[in-house]
Amino acid sequence: MRKYTNELKPNEEVEVAGWVHEKRIHGKLIFLVLRDREGFVQVTLSKKDVDEETFKIAKKISKESVIKVIGIVRNEPKAPNGIEIVPKKIIVLNKAQTPLPLDPTEKVPANLDTRLDNRFMDLRRPRISAIFKIRSKILNIVREFFHKRGFIEVHTPRIIATGSEGGTELFALDYFGREAFLSQSPQLYKQMLMASGLDKVFEIATYFRAEEHNTVWHLNEITAIDCEVAFIDSHEDVMKILEELVVTVINRLNETSKKELSILGIDEIYVKTPFPRISYDKALEILNDFGIKLKYGEDLTTEAEKKLYEYFKQEGYDIYFIKDYPYITRPFYTYFEGLEDKQPEEILEMLKENPKIKTRSFDLDYKGREISSGSQRIHIYNALVASLKFKGLRVESFKYYLEAFKYGMPPHGGFGLGIERFLMQLLDLKNIREAVLFPRDRNRLTP
Ligand code: ATP
Ligand code: MG
Repeated sequence: MRKYTNELKPNEEVEVAGWVHEKRIHGKLIFLVLRDREGFVQVTLSKKDVDEETFKIAKKISKESVIKVIGIVRNEPKAPNGIEIVPKKIIVLNKAQTPLPLDPTEKVPANLDTRLDNRFMDLRRPRISAIFKIRSKILNIVREFFHKRGFIEVHTPRIIATGSEGGTELFALDYFGREAFLSQSPQLYKQMLMASGLDKVFEIATYFRAEEHNTVWHLNEITAIDCEVAFIDSHEDVMKILEELVVTVINRLNETSKKELSILGIDEIYVKTPFPRISYDKALEILNDFGIKLKYGEDLTTEAEKKLYEYFKQEGYDIYFIKDYPYITRPFYTYFEGLEDKQPEEILEMLKENPKIKTRSFDLDYKGREISSGSQRIHIYNALVASLKFKGLRVESFKYYLEAFKYGMPPHGGFGLGIERFLMQLLDLKNIREAVLFPRDRNRLTP
């Protein structure tokens, strides 16, 4: 039975398999460093201990070739983990060609483009694979979190007829002669599910965004954690769930991913709770004091988000909510007060008079970047119709969605949390592309 390098005990006969990370020849002594998913082990061949054939194989083997080693584990204080394997047999499973496109030992540095072009090889670097082990762990924690709280995991369509926020950012495609789009968010569907009685749902899935911007924090294919909950009193209920989720992920990672975090140079991920909650109005005041003047109703700029982080950092906070945004900065489905028992025309009038009306919305920012947006949603049919019209969206295109609001739609709300954005801020990655195995951006369609 094959063992991983972190499972080896002295004086055992073992079989390990992996890649030739390093090879050093000192006359009658050859050292191979075998690397597998879990780490490294030194394989020591001394001419007096091993047969001629095995020695020859080791001498000839190229770096990054795939080998299987059968041998005895021995204590060796001078070896990296205090042990080494004295091989009985080395089997070459596949030779690696030379030269290598990338150096997995990281002695030769490579830029991000070269690394992404050779991602399969880049991932052989423990520092890089650690990111994806942590990503996998996060998803596991998230699923556990939601199941424990009675949420149902759902999957909504990827091929859709209308975007959740109109036509921007959508990738169009030909659907048997009709125009269709790749889903940019599960928004409309997770809301429709609130009328189904499923009550509390979550979805972990991929979405597509034809972003205008080419930045180090935008991707064109993202994965997000979404949830939607019925029978809430306000967006505060949703913020509470999001805060608990983020804190649970961080605490559990600190407990269960010590090894991966330490490979990334992180002792412990820091989180101070409870997350502060400030209103959009208050954020503008703070920014004003920092010399950043935003017009009321303008979305927070990148510079403003950075400054706000400086402000919270002084108090020791990395993660904080900004809530109660004015209507014009938010999507059409965002709830605001005073919608009950009104005709669409009355609500339209209300909006025309005050398009900066406060909504029950929030963003969660982590170290100066938005990682999640959420809100209480409008659950009142007439109000949705008015809001769509106000935003210049075609009510007709949303007919299938609006139907769900006619026959018993409970008050509800939810959030979307971008996994890559979260991971990027969590691990202080400089570029969001580091948080995806095979990122899609404006220039990159392969690998
Ligand atoms: P931003 O303003 O940062 O571009 P957004 O407000 O357009 O994001 P939302 O529609 O609120 O994004 O999506 C919810 C979450 O999904 C965001 O908070 C973010 O974590 C993630 N997200 C959205 N768009 C992208 C993207 N292009 N690349 C990476 N993550 C994204
Ligand atoms: Mg947002």
